Amino acid sequence: MAFKHLVFSGVQPTGNLHLGNYLGAIKRFVELQRSHDCIYCVVDLHAITVWQDPAELPAAIREVTSAYIAAGIDPKAHIVFNQSQVAEHAELAWIFNCVARIGWLNRMTQFKEKAGKDRENASVGLFAYPNLMAADILVYRATHVPVGDDQKQHLELSRDIAQKFNNDFANSINQHGFGEVFFPQPEPLIQGPATRVMSLRDGTKKMSKSDPSDQSRINLTDDADTIAHKIRRAKTDPHPLPHEEKELEQRPEADNLVGIYAALADTSKADVLKQHGGAQFSTFKNALVDLLVAKLAPLNAEMRRLKDDTAYIDSVLADGAARAQKIAAETMKAVKDIVGFVHR
Ligand code: ATP
Ligand code: MG
Repeated sequence: MAFKHLVFSGVQPTGNLHLGNYLGAIKRFVELQRSHDCIYCVVDLHAITVWQDPAELPAAIREVTSAYIAAGIDPKAHIVFNQSQVAEHAELAWIFNCVARIGWLNRMTQFKEKAGKDRENASVGLFAYPNLMAADILVYRATHVPVGDDQKQHLELSRDIAQKFNNDFANSINQHGFGEVFFPQPEPLIQGPATRVMSLRDGTKKMSKSDPSDQSRINLTDDADTIAHKIRRAKTDPHPLPHEEKELEQRPEADNLVGIYAALADTSKADVLKQHGGAQFSTFKNALVDLLVAKLAPLNAEMRRLKDDTAYIDSVLADGAARAQKIAAETMKAVKDIVGFVHR
């Protein structure tokens, strides 16, 4: 069955929005608006799978919203809202808790990384996180999901859940007039030179909001001096930049900085090396700082301006939630019929 193309994605309001979130996700969200209908969510229900201070969460939700808008997402032409305002996400997630298997979730590497050694003490929500993510996407029957490389495994799980639901309820789906399959198989969109931006301190670790070292990441709110300081201190190796992309393979830190440059300049790593191959890191880092500041300063300024306009941000979220809920409620009505619930 052909589903109407629809893009869905989200970012958690867990503080410290960083360059990885921008290049791996938000910048791609902006580009996709030209070709698709898009729904972009601030996933606050996901955020509380690890402790969030209730005194800080509202500002974090508004900060992600302002980053979306400052980056160029149009909340009128598309939909921008925070997840907890559309209860259908949690409702469908419960159904998916009963579709997904514990064995599937046990394989999720993000849970293992985030729970760390003290797994017994992690929240049930952190374990079930991928089921909620599947619900986020499928409650809109979205077909395309732009994410960073770290979310690939969760997307595969969303596809497995969609398929198992379609199989388990095949007869009921058909009897209720929904044809052969009810949910699409959502496609991950993991593309470009910066699908996995790495920590500036360790080229084998992803840049992350939750990394305790602020030096490990460029925050979207960092000023020019801070950006320059962090890039100059970023870990590198002693060799000049290679001329060939293939030679980046064994050099994670060099690969990371070249990837960041390419993504910011809307070009490829090969093109960056054509221009900068043979350069010492000191020289290349200066060029990278200039590019970062040129690209992030306007975003930064607009985010600051919007962040103080709480009334505007909240009105965007309320309007987006109302429009999102219309679609989500439709899906839930059908899901209730399919599962066999009596409803109004
Ligand atoms: P947390 O540490 O709280 O999980 P996070 O930095 O992973 O925070 P998320 O809100 O979980 O941020 O992810 C939002 C989007 O940003 C997702 O699409 C994710 O794949 C993408 N993303 C996160 N980190 C990176 C990164 N280092 N490089 C590229 N994309 C990233
Ligand atoms: Mg994450």
